[in-house]
Amino acid sequence: MHEARDSAQSNASLPQEPVDVVVVGAGVIGCAIADALATDHDVVVLDKSGVAAGATGRAAGVITPTLFYGDHPDVARYANEFFRAFDGTNGFEFTERRRYDYVVEEEVDSARARAATLSDHGFPVTYLETDAVESEAPRLRLDDFAGAVRYDDAGWVDPYTLATALKQRASDSGATFLLDNEVVAVSPNTVELSDGEIQADNVVVAAGFSTPDILGRPLPIRPYRTQCVVLEPAAALDDQFPIGRVGSEHLYFRPEHNGDLLVGGSHDIVSDPAAVSRQADESFVKEVALTIPGLVRGFEDAGLVNGWAGVDSATPDARPILDRVGDIFVAAGFNGLGILASPIAAETIRSHITGEPAAFDVAPFSFDRFADSGSDFELRTTSDVGR
Ligand SMILES: Cc1cc2nc3c(=O)[nH]c(=O)nc-3n(C[C@H](O)[C@H](O)[C@H](O)COP(=O)(O)OP(=O)(O)OC[C@H]3O[C@@H](n4cnc5c(N)ncnc54)[C@H](O)[C@@H]3O)c2cc1C
Repeated sequence: MHEARDSAQSNASLPQEPVDVVVVGAGVIGCAIADALATDHDVVVLDKSGVAAGATGRAAGVITPTLFYGDHPDVARYANEFFRAFDGTNGFEFTERRRYDYVVEEEVDSARARAATLSDHGFPVTYLETDAVESEAPRLRLDDFAGAVRYDDAGWVDPYTLATALKQRASDSGATFLLDNEVVAVSPNTVELSDGEIQADNVVVAAGFSTPDILGRPLPIRPYRTQCVVLEPAAALDDQFPIGRVGSEHLYFRPEHNGDLLVGGSHDIVSDPAAVSRQADESFVKEVALTIPGLVRGFEDAGLVNGWAGVDSATPDARPILDRVGDIFVAAGFNGLGILASPIAAETIRSHITGEPAAFDVAPFSFDRFADSGSDFELRTTSDVGR
């Protein structure tokens, strides 16, 4: 988690002439969209705070496009390739790691079928029995599980570094980042700030849970709070320790470079997202401390390094809205997957603005799929969706 703020170019004066694109929000999504458009557009990015100051700077950074978008293979392939191609750019690093999704007895048939389907699509995904998992990843403990689905194309990133590396590349292409600038309202060609306005041919709102407020209209998006803790085991994890997800416990984990373990979970809809605590709850820390030793060996006496909470937003089908809403472009509702979905969001919004075909079918992210939805729906978070 990063509290540091990248404030380069903050407080620069507002452009007096109309620009091609204004992006509201300098989280990973706003930075990725700016990066995708800045090569051939004048782009201005506005944020009320700093780069990655919202959910982005609090994310775990687990990247498994195949798991969450594998039913749209071209989408998953695009994101998988993006992270590998971006590795090494402006300090960004993609750490490749296998991912094991623990499977309980009742879910073996569906897990096997899912692995087979993804494998048929060309993804390196395999269902393994418990013994096979534990022999190749000996610190994983699957006493209460029948097996796991292994994803060989997963990895993790530092989300703050991803956002700043995207911002840097966008800036190098000519984008301007105006930080500490709160947007009050938007209309199709005007962005209003507390002390002025900017005219733009295209306005993109990528402001996380604040997106509906900025648009001035409801969207089928619900803010929810989610948490992470970092544990230090007695013996550090080695440099092959994998990523894991345990859907039945609503927990996921990944290694840190220093051999600690980051554990994420807990998803609660919140009515006042700006006001909720950004600290991890004691009850969540206790739950993790009690549960992890049953899932990963060597954590019986682990120390607590730190913990935190953040707010992301959910949609009814756990996919983001990446579309024109009225005459304004929206990129919001990332369901705990916005780091891995950032290249997908950037490519989709670029396609809508330029009219160029995207590298994949963008229909799964259309706004009109929610024509009949209100903003009061059941939460389907990443650990519940179970795809
Ligand atoms: C604890 C936690 C763990 C997570 N783990 C993962 C993970 O492992 N993998 C993954 O893919 N995703 C993960 N996520 C989800 C991911 O963090 C989000 O989906 C993603 O960061 C969303 O990015 P964003 O740019 O849309 O929003 P944000 O990062 O929230 O950025 C929105 C920006 O808009 C700005 N803003 C808001 N209102 C205004 C305004 N009025 N004017 C100007 N600017 C404004 C804010 O200051 C902020 O900088 C996790 C999230 C959390 C909280």
